[in-house]
Amino acid sequence: MTVTLTTAATPETPDIEVDVLVVGGGGCGLVAAIAADAAGASVAVLEKQSRLAGNTALSSGSIPGAGTRLQAAAGVTDGPDVFRDDLMRVSGPHDADHLTERLAGLSAELVEWLIDEAHVGLTLVAGYKHVGHSVTRLHAPLSRTGADLMADLEAEAERRGIPVAPGQPVVELTVADGRVTGAIARDPDGRESRIGAKAVILATNGFGGARDLVAELCPGAQAATYAGATGSTGEALRWGRALGARTGNLGAYQGHAGLAARSGVLVTWTVVERGGFVVDASGQRIGDETLGYSAFAGVELAATGPLFMVYDARIEADVAAGQPEFAEIARMGDAVAGTTAGELAQAIGVPGDALAATIDAAADAAGQADAFGRTAWGLGALQAPYRATRITPALFHTQGGLAVDRDARVIGADGAPIPGLYAGGGAATGISGRDGGNGYVSGNGLLSALGLGLIAGRSAVADAAVPDGEPNLKVQQGVTT
Ligand SMILES: Cc1cc2nc3c(=O)[nH]c(=O)nc-3n(C[C@H](O)[C@H](O)[C@H](O)COP(=O)(O)OP(=O)(O)OC[C@H]3O[C@@H](n4cnc5c(N)ncnc54)[C@H](O)[C@@H]3O)c2cc1C
Repeated sequence: MTVTLTTAATPETPDIEVDVLVVGGGGCGLVAAIAADAAGASVAVLEKQSRLAGNTALSSGSIPGAGTRLQAAAGVTDGPDVFRDDLMRVSGPHDADHLTERLAGLSAELVEWLIDEAHVGLTLVAGYKHVGHSVTRLHAPLSRTGADLMADLEAEAERRGIPVAPGQPVVELTVADGRVTGAIARDPDGRESRIGAKAVILATNGFGGARDLVAELCPGAQAATYAGATGSTGEALRWGRALGARTGNLGAYQGHAGLAARSGVLVTWTVVERGGFVVDASGQRIGDETLGYSAFAGVELAATGPLFMVYDARIEADVAAGQPEFAEIARMGDAVAGTTAGELAQAIGVPGDALAATIDAAADAAGQADAFGRTAWGLGALQAPYRATRITPALFHTQGGLAVDRDARVIGADGAPIPGLYAGGGAATGISGRDGGNGYVSGNGLLSALGLGLIAGRSAVADAAVPDGEPNLKVQQGVTT
């Protein structure tokens, strides 16, 4: 239910009173709102943008679940301990180990809750491995788009009659006696509304779109092209800092090493899984691409000059068949073709001898470790005709944020929760290590967003002691539908 807020009669009187106010209408926010509604609370969602189009809608909608019934049906044996160990192996110790444990433990319940309670269509993603996972564990909409995930969550919020107010950013939190009591939102005409709440959930994502915060906290990603949603400008972090909240893992981010430089379409890392590799302007490789798309973004950021993903026509056809969006690369003219290594080299402007030698060396290495330690070569040696796409490293989203406990309560300077304040997704501390893009495992973003959203929605209601079964307060005044 889309709503517009109206202006307060007096500056101190809330226009609206709800049990749970959710700030940010992305994946975290909608899951938190649905969970709080399901627990019997009155809820409202405020969204900065004119439509719900945060990072969740841009994602491929892949959500890890360890021990789901979908895995069992596919014969995959998995569980929270295996998943936690996978996550910790990639991230190393960080500021939110307790969240790794909590979210790995929740992941199967999360996936099944999304299907059963939030009516989100999810299937187990088979057919290719995922960075950091020892078993097949990612669940996604059939279309593999976050847009469909968001459409299902929006439909569920609508079905439940949860008021969602787009185009009405929160500009300030209200606080009384150390307790967060609500927020002030601004409508497109600049009028401000005051919303009172027993609990406020910050679901505003991270600060990837705020150049000042990226420069201060994630300097390693400064040179990357920002490819996330424009709404991720770090308000939760700024408000939390002002309230003295603790923070964690602020230098960590999800990068992607394969943004097509011309069109901005993604060269999926499945191309690397099938045997593709990256060369620089000298026609030589720059590292082990199988580190993963996020970690390899760091390798690319340290390189100079143009970079190219080199693959062949077999890989192009194979990957495009499973991931139709990759076919866009060829359709949009981002895939340069060459019937020989020399022809390809000429087309992309790198030395022919060097590129031919690089292709030969990769062929020799197939099946064993090469000079960079790469051992996996997918379909084996590249075969003519060849393809190349110019790529550039991207920043998808930041992974650091406000410190939260196992119940998604924001932690204050004294180590105790700040009463009334919760955070999830990119607004909260992530589980991808302390620094850089190396600690990111596929699905970490949505696991933190949807998992902490589910936790925050439930614990906000429990803490506010909303009696189960009591009529929802819903929005009482100051709202037009
Ligand atoms: C191209 C791409 C692909 C990705 N693929 C995956 C994937 O497959 N799996 C995975 O796990 N992760 C993936 N990620 C990361 C994932 O998208 C994010 O980690 C996740 O969506 C974050 O969810 P969120 O709810 O915290 O933020 P968002 O979905 O961005 O929602 C935050 C919302 O808050 C709003 N907002 C911000 N400030 C305010 C304010 N002041 N007032 C009101 N509203 C506000 C924003 O406009 C936005 O709508 C991908 C990211 C990108 C960019």
